[in-house]
Amino acid sequence: MAGANVSGHAEKGTVVVIGAGVIGLLSALEIQSRGHDVIVVDGGNPGGDQSASYGNGAWLSPGAIMPISVPGLWRKIPGYLLDPNGPFVIRWRNLLGLAPWLWRFVRAGDSWEKIAVCAKHRFALCHDTVEGHLGFAKAAGVEHLISRTGLMFVYSSKADAAPEKREWDMRRQFGVSFSEIGEAELRELEPGLAPHYSFGMRLNDGAFLRDTRAYLEALAALLASRGGRMVRARVTGFSFRDGRLTAVKTDRDALSCTKAVIAAGAWSASLAKAAGNNVPLVSERGYHIVLPEVQDRPRTALMPFDGKMAVTPTAAGLRIAGQVELASIATPPDWRRTDILYGYAERMFPDAVRGMNDKTAQRWLGHRPSTPDGLPSIGPSSFSNDVVHAFGHGHSGMCQAPATARLVAAHIDGSPAPFAPDAYRPQRF
Ligand SMILES: Cc1cc2nc3c(=O)[nH]c(=O)nc-3n(C[C@H](O)[C@H](O)[C@H](O)COP(=O)(O)OP(=O)(O)OC[C@H]3O[C@@H](n4cnc5c(N)ncnc54)[C@H](O)[C@@H]3O)c2cc1C
Repeated sequence: MAGANVSGHAEKGTVVVIGAGVIGLLSALEIQSRGHDVIVVDGGNPGGDQSASYGNGAWLSPGAIMPISVPGLWRKIPGYLLDPNGPFVIRWRNLLGLAPWLWRFVRAGDSWEKIAVCAKHRFALCHDTVEGHLGFAKAAGVEHLISRTGLMFVYSSKADAAPEKREWDMRRQFGVSFSEIGEAELRELEPGLAPHYSFGMRLNDGAFLRDTRAYLEALAALLASRGGRMVRARVTGFSFRDGRLTAVKTDRDALSCTKAVIAAGAWSASLAKAAGNNVPLVSERGYHIVLPEVQDRPRTALMPFDGKMAVTPTAAGLRIAGQVELASIATPPDWRRTDILYGYAERMFPDAVRGMNDKTAQRWLGHRPSTPDGLPSIGPSSFSNDVVHAFGHGHSGMCQAPATARLVAAHIDGSPAPFAPDAYRPQRF
């Protein structure tokens, strides 16, 4: 391999990581720990609200093995197109442009055999997420931002959980630890939860972040304290000589380097194309609302069976994050979607939320970087091994970030992959 030393490892050069979301920052730290100089370049600040990593549900789930597309989904799509209040909407005017992605998305989940394979590769990325994040958080001095109370799905009855039995069985097969929580225990654990929830499934080893912005800022500070450079600029392309990377081009100065990582979240497709790959990537737009005035917050992060949203007690308030809106990145936000999230919070915690002044609520729109097959694109680009993909983590980028970082660092370093890398190859599309 060109650029490799006698041990087979890449020579230690300068690596530019494009994007300071959770994937870029953890990849940069992991690459730096292997002796490379690292520059992280982003058009915004680390932890800024332009990134999905800032505004998500903050769940670190070792059980995030299921893709969104599962058998039977296609039957629900007409309903999604017609119901403006459902958890999944497609903006009509974007339908034509999204059709090829949607077709692949539905096909990727059209049999349980395909789901089982996908779940295996998702498990490799998420099973040790909490330990992975704790390692970085400890080094950055922000271990207290990770709350290890487990994560709980709540249902109105055990019967409501029955349609998800297959998912839970798969988690059991992989050894994910979870417990059924009966009504009495649920009341004890979450006394503020509305009485129409009477059953829970708790991921015992799950955790959540109390403050995603502070966490990302701390990761960036750790990187800088170890000699990494943060550059504020927008990357526009790459310069190659004889198939080897020489620089990353930006809207300011070009950054000389020997390797680069594309970790630009939902904005990665054009950069991937510049390095030789057409990756079908869309923004599954999502929203959050944070209610700072809610004093009586749940003790752990919850997900209601009917709303499929994360309800997370963050430092800034009760954060309700969810909704899937398929529309282009440039489409203006539809803030009515945050009213839907607010409605759920009210129904879940009537005493704490009802009648609250929702004028103090913070509302946010973000972009999940989503491939159709539920797996990210990780690995060397087709044009040059020097440019490595690290994007497309969809709904689970926080969970998948530590394992992704290890895999990306192995690709950069030329060291053995920590787990089977082929499933994530950019060339599979
Ligand atoms: C509502 C919602 C809830 C979610 N809940 C969870 C959850 O609970 N758990 C979980 O695991 N995941 C969750 N996710 C998904 C998770 O947030 C994402 O998968 C993850 O944050 C993606 O991280 P990233 O670093 O790839 O992208 P981002 O965080 O979006 O970062 C990409 C960065 O790249 C920068 N960038 C883009 N283009 C360029 C360029 N040309 N030059 C320089 N910089 C550029 C951007 O400014 C941005 O800062 C949720 C997402 C949403 C929207």
